[in-house]
Amino acid sequence: MQNVRPKKHLGQHFLTDLSIAERIAQAVQGHGDVGCVLEIGPGMGVLTDFLLKNPMELYLIDIDSESIAYLHQKYPQLGGKIIEGDYLKENLDAVLPERYAIAGNFPYNISSQIFFRVLEERQKVTEVVCMLQKEVAQRIASPKGNKDYGILSVLLQAYYSIEYLFSVPPGVFNPPPKVNSGVIRLTRNQTEKLDCNEKLFFQVVKGGFGNRRKTLRNSLKSFQLAEEFKSHPILNKRAEQLDVADFVFLTQQIEASRGNH
Ligand code: SAH
Repeated sequence: MQNVRPKKHLGQHFLTDLSIAERIAQAVQGHGDVGCVLEIGPGMGVLTDFLLKNPMELYLIDIDSESIAYLHQKYPQLGGKIIEGDYLKENLDAVLPERYAIAGNFPYNISSQIFFRVLEERQKVTEVVCMLQKEVAQRIASPKGNKDYGILSVLLQAYYSIEYLFSVPPGVFNPPPKVNSGVIRLTRNQTEKLDCNEKLFFQVVKGGFGNRRKTLRNSLKSFQLAEEFKSHPILNKRAEQLDVADFVFLTQQIEASRGNH
C-alpha cells in the first residue's frame, strides 16, 4: 500500500511512535458502559491498530479521500464503518449508536471546532481521548484563575471531567508539527442539564470572555442587566475568576434580571 501524502491544509501529521499510539488507545475506558468508539482523523491508522485491540466496536471518520482509500485496503473488515466525511458537518445519528466514545489524534487546526461539536453532541459523547496542540489541551483542562482558562474550559468542564494525561514532542510525527502536543481525557459527568437556561449560559460564558481583562459588568453590558443587579459583587470579577457553578449562578441572575425589565 502506498503511504498517504501528508496534506498540510488537513492538519495531517502522522504519528510514528507506536508506544504513544498504544497509550492513547489504552486510555479509552468505555466510561458509561458504551461499546463503541468513533475515531476522528485516523489517517493511516496508527491509532486505529491499537483501538481495534479494545473490545469496543470501532467507527472511523476522515475527510481525506486518499486516507479513506488506504483505510479500506488496510481494514476490509470495517467496511461501512469507515466514513468519508467532515466530522464538523456530518450527521452520524443514523450510523452510530445512541452513545459512544471519541478518540483521535485530532487535526490541530480545527480542534476547538471539534470540541464545540462535541458540546452539541454532549448527550451522546460519553468520553473523549485525544491528542491536540499542548496549549489547547492545557487550556481545556485548566482550572479557574489560570491565564489559560477560557471559553472551552468552562463549557467542557460543565459536562465533562477533564484529565491532562501526558505530553508528546514534535519529533514523533511525520512531518513534525511546529508545536508540542498533549493528550487529554474527557469523561462525561452526571450533569444532564445545568440548573439554568443552557443557551443563555453559553452566551454568558462567551460574552464574559469576550474581553477577559474587563470586569463582567463591562463585558456583559449587551445583556441589558437590570439596574438592581448591576451592583451585584459578582460583576466586579473577571470571567477567568469564575468556575462552572459561578457561571450557572450568574446566568440565573441574568435571566431573572431580564425577566424584571
Ligand atoms: N490519526 C492519524 C492522523 C492524524 S492527522 C495519526 O495519528 O497518524 C489528522 C487527521 O485528521 C488526518 O488524517 C486528516 O485527514 C483528518 N481530518 C482533517 N480534518 C478533518 C475533518 N474535518 N473531519 C475528519 N477528519 C479530518
